[in-house]
Amino acid sequence: MLMLSFSGGFVKIVGGIFYGSKALFVDAMTCIANFIALTASIYFYKVSLLPPDRDHHYGHYKLGFGGAIISILAYSFVAGIVVMNLISFKEYQVRIEAPFLAILGFIFYSLAIVVARKISEFLTPYTVFTVSELLESLVVIASSLAGALYSYLIDYIGAIILATYLFIELYSVARDVIMNISDIAPPTKYINNVREFIESQGFKVKSIKIRRIHSRLYHGDIVLVPRNNIDYKELIKKVKELKTDLMKKFSLDASIEFE
Ligand SMILES: [Zn+2]
Repeated sequence: MLMLSFSGGFVKIVGGIFYGSKALFVDAMTCIANFIALTASIYFYKVSLLPPDRDHHYGHYKLGFGGAIISILAYSFVAGIVVMNLISFKEYQVRIEAPFLAILGFIFYSLAIVVARKISEFLTPYTVFTVSELLESLVVIASSLAGALYSYLIDYIGAIILATYLFIELYSVARDVIMNISDIAPPTKYINNVREFIESQGFKVKSIKIRRIHSRLYHGDIVLVPRNNIDYKELIKKVKELKTDLMKKFSLDASIEFE
């Protein structure tokens, strides 16, 4: 996947710098960012799978977001370069080789996405950017071809479309990361199901707090009200079972206390 992404970026950089297409230049810049984002996403995905240790008692899941954060940094950096390049505007010429290199880049990126999608959700921010690489490739192919055949202005408009799209995506990925690290609660339906399940096991629920760690793991604090005549041995056994069931049925790692 890294090789595919790298090859896609390489042909675009060649086309953007040597064959005069600004649209392809913007595309090439995002390819560099894309390569950094992919490398970081893979690294942090691996780290996120490590078991709990002395400095991360709950596991390393949240380090998985390192990939998204590095992606944002890399894309923000090239967004700055792109803006500077587009601001300095004067007439230029697009060579006919540019659209052909754009087509080649398109093929490499299509393959990279297919591979990334199969791996993990922590690669999702990466695939969002890479889908944009595909759309960009289509815009670049069209605008650099028209730029070479008719007028450089069409190529320039293509470059502006790509730059705009880059900012829209930055916004969307940043928003997702912020939500995901915010201890967000699961949907009400999930919480109701947990409550109903606990009550079906003969407990009375006083309160439930749940936060999402990632799509397959939740953490919760649950307060139960004890009945009057409790047999402690029996209670401890039932709570242990309840915790195991919550993990199995709801992917919920819960601390349970009694009021
Ligand atoms: Zn650690």
